[in-house]
Amino acid sequence: MHQFCVSLDADENGSHIVHLDGCPGWPALKFTRLLGLYEYCDEALRAARMFFGQVDGCSQCIPQCHAQFQISELVSQAEP
Ligand SMILES: [Zn+2]
Repeated sequence: MHQFCVSLDADENGSHIVHLDGCPGWPALKFTRLLGLYEYCDEALRAARMFFGQVDGCSQCIPQCHAQFQISELVSQAEP
């Protein structure tokens, strides 16, 4: 199980970012709400949605839970 938190401040897309413990982008504690211990990031995102309508996974620590459009941007950049 891993500790997750969600940022109280929304990013430029209006999303509150969920982080995994140990992430270099983990915000200062006063800017976060701890979500508790979860095995998978999608469970942590579900918990974060109880506090904020729009949440997203951090691209650094839980890229598997990061918004799909970011991934498709990377894919399109890789095309010739
Ligand atoms: Zn993170």
